[in-house]
Amino acid sequence: MAEPIVPKDWPADGGRYDAIVVGAGHNGLIAAGYLAKAGKKVLVLERREIVGGATVTEEFWPGWMLSTCSYVCNLLLPEVVEDLELRRFGYDIRPFDPQYFVPFLDGSHFMSSLDGRKTRQQIAKFSQHDVVAYDAYWAMWDRILERMKPLLLKPAPGWAEIEERFGGAQGLEDWRTLTMKSIVEVLEEYFESEQIKAPLSTGGVIGVNAGPRTPGTAYVKYHHLIGSVGGHQGAWGYVRGGMGSIANALAGFGRERGVEIATGSEVAEVEILDGVARGVRTVDGRTYRADVVLSNADPQRTFLRMVGEGRLPEAFAASVKRIRAKGSVVKVLLGLGELPDFTAMPGTAVGPQHTGGIVINPSVDWLETAWDDCKRGHPSRRPFMDCYIQTATEEGLAPAGKHTMSLYVQYAPYDLAEGTWDGRRDEIGKTIIDTLALFAPNISGAIEHMEVLGPPDIERIVGITGGNIFHGEIMPDQMFQFRPVPGFADYRTPVDGLYLCGAGAWPGGAVFGAPGRNCALEVLADLGSEAGALAAD
Ligand SMILES: Cc1cc2nc3c(=O)[nH]c(=O)nc-3n(C[C@H](O)[C@H](O)[C@H](O)COP(=O)(O)OP(=O)(O)OC[C@H]3O[C@@H](n4cnc5c(N)ncnc54)[C@H](O)[C@@H]3O)c2cc1C
Repeated sequence: MAEPIVPKDWPADGGRYDAIVVGAGHNGLIAAGYLAKAGKKVLVLERREIVGGATVTEEFWPGWMLSTCSYVCNLLLPEVVEDLELRRFGYDIRPFDPQYFVPFLDGSHFMSSLDGRKTRQQIAKFSQHDVVAYDAYWAMWDRILERMKPLLLKPAPGWAEIEERFGGAQGLEDWRTLTMKSIVEVLEEYFESEQIKAPLSTGGVIGVNAGPRTPGTAYVKYHHLIGSVGGHQGAWGYVRGGMGSIANALAGFGRERGVEIATGSEVAEVEILDGVARGVRTVDGRTYRADVVLSNADPQRTFLRMVGEGRLPEAFAASVKRIRAKGSVVKVLLGLGELPDFTAMPGTAVGPQHTGGIVINPSVDWLETAWDDCKRGHPSRRPFMDCYIQTATEEGLAPAGKHTMSLYVQYAPYDLAEGTWDGRRDEIGKTIIDTLALFAPNISGAIEHMEVLGPPDIERIVGITGGNIFHGEIMPDQMFQFRPVPGFADYRTPVDGLYLCGAGAWPGGAVFGAPGRNCALEVLADLGSEAGALAAD
């Protein structure tokens, strides 16, 4: 990299820094935190008035607090929690139990719990064979998770390292499972009952334009098992106060270390001098200078808008355009006067059917059919949904006696084959509620407030191109050395001094923190700083 020197006479009415981070998503805040911890003077510029990006909790209606986008947590790196002292700044996570309640249309249900014995009893309701299979299934994932673990805390591995990690007995088969199989193919190797395969298949399609029988969806499932909460591998949890508490804790650590965070500051352009990124210009015309610029925005927004195609190698720009980053996720936020009354487990008093995840996907074919609609440009007529009622186990997020409910729904395409999102948002929302009502008939009458956010809304609010929840799908052909594009999987870009630190970089999306952390360590190495300094205090 060229000498990190910004000419003194280059205008900088906004100020001069060691590093500028564009975007205060959790990854941007993490990168800023690590750089500040290493003694760097850091500025974070965020276009919204609040920090967090897709990791925010907002008051949608007076007294109702909902996490606008991400709503539950599994992947957040323990290293980040420790290094950036997040607990001291209010971060508090608890696994929910049961992990999943899955109602079926015949009035039966399946529940998966933190306690493996309880889960096995539930599986036994449907198949004794599957009780035994469950252990073998988890042993397979444990092996793959173990192989992948060391590859997550640094730039994407090359072939030699992958070959080494996937050596030994079952190595090739594990690699094939991880990168080539569909989630259904994997599940069918182990289980016979539909009631087990159906809920386990949903993790394979989160955030991707694919159905459960699409090759590569096993990787997506793996990605959602990476973390652990409360010592339970693969378990998910609620963050006290909502997911925005993570962003607030990160901002708290950063500010204590001198990070300046300017909200309401959208970057229009990365400014490049003699081929090196030396600062940014905001949409309101202010200029800021730094030795390095880190972008937390998605790859397409970063390169095609803030850098500009004309300043990039042609082949690189073409690869960026090819990234699959169109979303098909709908988020529905509800304010409820009473809890959903499930036919499969009746009652509107808080019960186990309300305290964890509620999976609406009674069969693998239900999910595949939902995708069939979407791939033709239509919203799913019977969508899959993953629902959470955080207020069932936490006070202070809704008015007394009321509940919030967060629905993560697939699928509805960014580009609709018929009509527009503005014209169809209400109809799409109604289909989702009608589907939920098949399982909890009181739901329509319980709704006091409702907000439907489709992919274009997510794009508008969070600034993610295409509204893709992971800044680009996390299918295997967009992971490893291919993330964000082939040849640039180490956070560096064709523009010296410009780095990518968001979910579009390896090892990908979710509230994870690995791209932000890894990128900061690479920046520090390029600046000649001792990464060891990070562990100093
Ligand atoms: C609906 C939805 C549900 C999800 N559910 C979950 C979940 O439950 N659990 C989970 O782990 N993950 C979930 N995810 C995924 C996860 O939230 C994201 O992958 C992750 O938060 C991305 O983090 P990031 O910091 O890389 O980027 P982002 O959170 O996208 O942050 C990027 C930031 O950059 C800012 N920005 C962009 N351009 C500019 C500019 N020009 N100038 C200044 N600022 C700019 C944006 O405003 C934004 O704040 C969900 C995502 C969505 C959208």
